[in-house]
Amino acid sequence: MNDAKKMLSADEALELLLSHARPLGEIEKIQTTHALGRVLAQPLVSTVTVPPLDNSAMDGYALACASLNPVGETRLRVAQRIPAGSMGHALEQGTVARIFTGAPVPPGADAVVMQEDCTPDGDMVVIRKIPHHGENIRRAGEDIAAGSEVLPAGVRIRPQEMGLIASIGLADVPVYRKLRVALFFTGDEIVMPGEPLAEGEIYNSNRYTLLGLLEGMGCSVTDYGIVPDSLEATVDVLEKAWHEADLILTSGGVSVGEEDHVKAAVESLGKLDMWKVAMKPGKPVAYGTVHDTPFIGLPGNPVSAFATFCLFVRPYILRSQGVEKITPRSYSLPAAFDRSRPGSRREFVRVRLEPQADGMPGVAIYPNQGSGVLTSAVWGEGLAEIREGTAVARGDLIKFTPFSELLG
Ligand code: AMP
Ligand code: MG
Repeated sequence: MNDAKKMLSADEALELLLSHARPLGEIEKIQTTHALGRVLAQPLVSTVTVPPLDNSAMDGYALACASLNPVGETRLRVAQRIPAGSMGHALEQGTVARIFTGAPVPPGADAVVMQEDCTPDGDMVVIRKIPHHGENIRRAGEDIAAGSEVLPAGVRIRPQEMGLIASIGLADVPVYRKLRVALFFTGDEIVMPGEPLAEGEIYNSNRYTLLGLLEGMGCSVTDYGIVPDSLEATVDVLEKAWHEADLILTSGGVSVGEEDHVKAAVESLGKLDMWKVAMKPGKPVAYGTVHDTPFIGLPGNPVSAFATFCLFVRPYILRSQGVEKITPRSYSLPAAFDRSRPGSRREFVRVRLEPQADGMPGVAIYPNQGSGVLTSAVWGEGLAEIREGTAVARGDLIKFTPFSELLG
């Protein structure tokens, strides 16, 4: 059997990983002010109408269109003044109401003329513009009807959802509890930033990338730091991590070299499957359990750790968090590069969109696609997929997934 045959495709690896993901399901009620990044656990149904009444979109004059001359200007009496927060009364025939943005439109008025199109004259006003019926009136319930569902369960709360939740008067919101993720990093050569670097050592960049990725997803992270390449040290940290976490995530040490101890350590406390995924960057990814806590081991190379997180761990975490939409949106766009030599593994290259000669977007590739070249991910705006056995010529459509769909 050749190597490629023993490998899983990226799709198979994702499917396999997702088959192990279980939504946490534990619900807590938190203040809406603290809900950013959390996942809504129940659908929200509004008990109120938003906006509650027909109201003015402008500072101006509320009037009945029928009271205006069909052509030219009309001089009318200003019979009432309605600031936001107060209720006017029914419009007397042949009068207008001075009105301000957000104030309820009085009964009998069917348009608001903005003040720039009016000339006040004592207790009269000259209306210089003939509005159309309903102009500058925001209708009651045009945003939300009482009794309607404003958000389904399983959405991640962004700032705009926070505002929407507040707009229906909810100070508290039911969310799933945060997923607790234990992180550690294997490698005798790994040193924390801030420390001096001896010969042969490199800084622990994965800690920062993975921490950012996890926090961006609203996880609660415990960092167990750098673990030396030894079986005992790896077992020790796993023993601490498993009962405090819903997921243990690591980088490095998942190959099957002499210095890779993750496999033996996890197996001594649970079980582990090592997957060779036919992808670049990436390749080794491990899934298992430590006692009953799920374990995912990512490759150590910084771009591999980043890409495998985005493509596999993110959907796994989303499902564990109870998020409904887990598939990132991709777009077919023309390549702005040539890649003549097809690879045997699917490549997830770091790319960005650049305007081409005709002004349309083309997918430009970072020249160095090495799995240690983190600069490619910083330069890039997303990943493009080059399928196994496929060459790319300029203008060919390729699948582009923006980082906005892969992070958070
Ligand atoms: P490994 O998967 O342990 O064989 O590591 C693969 C490569 O990734 C090696 O060159 C490591 O030095 C590098 N690497 C492993 N862990 C980290 C880390 N936390 N930060 C940066 N690079 C790492
Ligand atoms: Mg290592």
